[in-house]
Amino acid sequence: MLILPRQKDIAVLGLGYSVGTPAEGIIAEAIVVKSLDELKKKEKEITGKIVVYNQDFELYEKAVKYRYNGANEAAKLGAVAVLVRAITPVSLYTLHAGSMKYAENITKIPAASITVEDAELLYRFQNRGETLKIQLKMEAKMLPDVESRNLVVELTGNKKPEKVVVVSSHIDSWDVGQGAMDDGGGAFISWSSLVLLKRLNLRPQRTIRGIMWTAEEIGLIGSRNYIKKHEEEKKNLQFVLDSDLGTFKPQGLVVSGNEQVQCIVHRILRLLKPLGNLNVKRGVLGYDTLEWLKGGVPGASLWNQNDTYFWYHHTNADTMLVEDPSALDAGTALFAAVSYVLADISIDLPHGNLS
Ligand SMILES: [Zn+2]
Repeated sequence: MLILPRQKDIAVLGLGYSVGTPAEGIIAEAIVVKSLDELKKKEKEITGKIVVYNQDFELYEKAVKYRYNGANEAAKLGAVAVLVRAITPVSLYTLHAGSMKYAENITKIPAASITVEDAELLYRFQNRGETLKIQLKMEAKMLPDVESRNLVVELTGNKKPEKVVVVSSHIDSWDVGQGAMDDGGGAFISWSSLVLLKRLNLRPQRTIRGIMWTAEEIGLIGSRNYIKKHEEEKKNLQFVLDSDLGTFKPQGLVVSGNEQVQCIVHRILRLLKPLGNLNVKRGVLGYDTLEWLKGGVPGASLWNQNDTYFWYHHTNADTMLVEDPSALDAGTALFAAVSYVLADISIDLPHGNLS
């Protein structure tokens, strides 16, 4: 609740891993900064205050550090809590969840997301010379870990079953919304591509393994465990596909691998003319699969027309309404075709240095 310069409720959503406040809450002056640079410039004014990050949104990767690490930077300077403007280009007073992480040997201060609207309001008050005072109450607490599992489905290869193409996505989601978009859509196309191939009675030489990773949102826990446990099989990975940036109309694939890999995937996408002009973009993009990609395993992420992805990301608005059945069918066709051809092709794709 904003107490000064006027009383107003402020909607908050605790960030993942944040500690709560004492039961009576924290009442403190607040200071708004637009950037970490500005925080450092004002380092003498931070002690005892609630820091409000009102960073701009250009790229998700740039803005997300305020959510992930903002509490540490503020705590180093003596702040008592942080409120982080939602990481989104567009807001209808929407709260966005997401993880943060406490650094070692730094005081753990509560961290919550606030809306773009409230962050801007506080900023305007401050620019007008008003003193800001906020009461923050958060009941966040960590519960003990429970068991959770990756879900694995596969079409076993008929000639080289030990060689594997992976199609993947994650099955967990944030507490808000339904996780239909992040990452239900990805799970749908990975799962459905195998169902489709089975119905068509197509069995390739190599195995196609669908993996729906668990506990991605709280730190890639399912995939990290899997990748570690299956280190032996890494050399047998033909290609690893991931979809975790929406399942809107497919544009192609962001492909990681050498020239030969890029060329082969490009040729496969040309088989999919009915889906439109699909393209290959070179890049190392993946979340659960990133460790494999960085280790030289060829792979790709779904490239889709996801301009509105971060409007819904980690919000109550991430529901089935965001999903378009025809885009899901197109994504399924793309994953099914690419995984099938790569699982049945005569050569093993080269691993190795990223280029
Ligand atoms: Zn996700």
